[in-house]
Amino acid sequence: MSEAPVTVRFAPSPTGRIHIGNARTALINWLFARKTGGRFLLRFDDTDAERSREEYAEAITRDLAWLGIVPDLVERQSARAERHRAAADRLRASGRLYACYETPDELERRRKRQLARGLPPVYDRAGLGLGEEERRALEAEGRRPHWRFRLSNTAPDGGIGHRDVTWDDLVLGRRSIDLGSLSDPVLVREDGTYLYTLPSVVDDIELGITHVIRGDDHVANTAVQIDLFEALGGPVPVFGHHNRLTTASGEGLSKRLGSLSVGALCEAGYEPMAVASLAVLIGTSDAVEPAPDLDALAETFDLSHVSHSSARFDPDDIGLLNARLLHAMPYEAAAERLAGLGIGGGAEFWETVRANITRFAEAADWWRVVTGPIEPVVEADDRGFLETARELLPPEPWDAETWGAWTGAVKAATGRKGKALFLPLRHALTGRDDGPELKRLLPLIGYRNTTDRLS
Ligand code: GLU
Repeated sequence: MSEAPVTVRFAPSPTGRIHIGNARTALINWLFARKTGGRFLLRFDDTDAERSREEYAEAITRDLAWLGIVPDLVERQSARAERHRAAADRLRASGRLYACYETPDELERRRKRQLARGLPPVYDRAGLGLGEEERRALEAEGRRPHWRFRLSNTAPDGGIGHRDVTWDDLVLGRRSIDLGSLSDPVLVREDGTYLYTLPSVVDDIELGITHVIRGDDHVANTAVQIDLFEALGGPVPVFGHHNRLTTASGEGLSKRLGSLSVGALCEAGYEPMAVASLAVLIGTSDAVEPAPDLDALAETFDLSHVSHSSARFDPDDIGLLNARLLHAMPYEAAAERLAGLGIGGGAEFWETVRANITRFAEAADWWRVVTGPIEPVVEADDRGFLETARELLPPEPWDAETWGAWTGAVKAATGRKGKALFLPLRHALTGRDDGPELKRLLPLIGYRNTTDRLS
């Protein structure tokens, strides 16, 4: 049998912006595809017509692109309704999809009775035993059917039996769930719309998904879905369930947490690779280091390193990682963006200031310090001292040695040393208390600006 090419999918519902936890799922799929030379599909699970919005689909596409993810293919479930209907018909024809008429109240009462008798609250397949006549009678009462998928755990006597569904999870290892512990899932609602399960499995089969990698909130769905894959005759994909991120206080992330949406992180000026590195590496056995690009992240990342419990996510870590990424960013990676911000000074400028910024746009603040105009900070007591310093300025050209030679001469002339010598100079030259090494800044500021600021 020839191996199908690896195909993964990220399947968000376009009912809001994606947050960093969704980005984790998308990135893990993307890195998996990168590592295996596979394809990445973006599938919008937009069968909920009321809540799905095209503008969210567009925003999600943009957010993914910002992270560096450009899908090989984009699909919308809403465009595949015909395929879902055909699959439901096939299941009906083979007796795997059956009509049920219980109201939610009736189901709840039944559940309570089962629990009271110490039985598992599993649906008793009452709908399966209904004859044509009974169905007609129920429909005459005004009831409309919802449709359940008959799981394959049929006992020899036709009743509810046991069947362990087992899979080798890429993250969690071998997992096994007894279908007998589950109710036959509803696939089609009374109004004829589908719950997530059927469209998802139909599309996974027809779009050739080989690996389903998603959050571990879906583990319980997997046994049902494997059974459905088999019922529909599709190959069963490999599954992997990664842990999910929680807030620092341990709550799950939700689309309502706007500040952690990928869009908000982008607007806040964070580097996509700071967000991506954190989203992927947190909650793994690998060190959370900022990777310079997704290829480098793909090299580090391994699904088997993902821990089995949830990972607490501290938003402050994005800032820290962002700063570390910038501090190590080579000039070649920054040059185009610097030019875009109207910043010159070449590699020398970037290498001088990068350790002093936490967001890229702050480079512009330092460029203003270099080129001016700035508000020099001059204490009245220091006027004479600065005047002397100005007179001792050596002529250009200046280099990294100039600062030492100049301040040596100022020290000898004024008797000042340490903070009393350096701080007034920093204040006058930059208007700030701290910043990059003056020995490197001075040649960038240049003779003319320096004399102006010392006067
Ligand atoms: N739309 C589903 C979700 O967002 C997809 C789950 C899956 O990957 O199967 O939860």
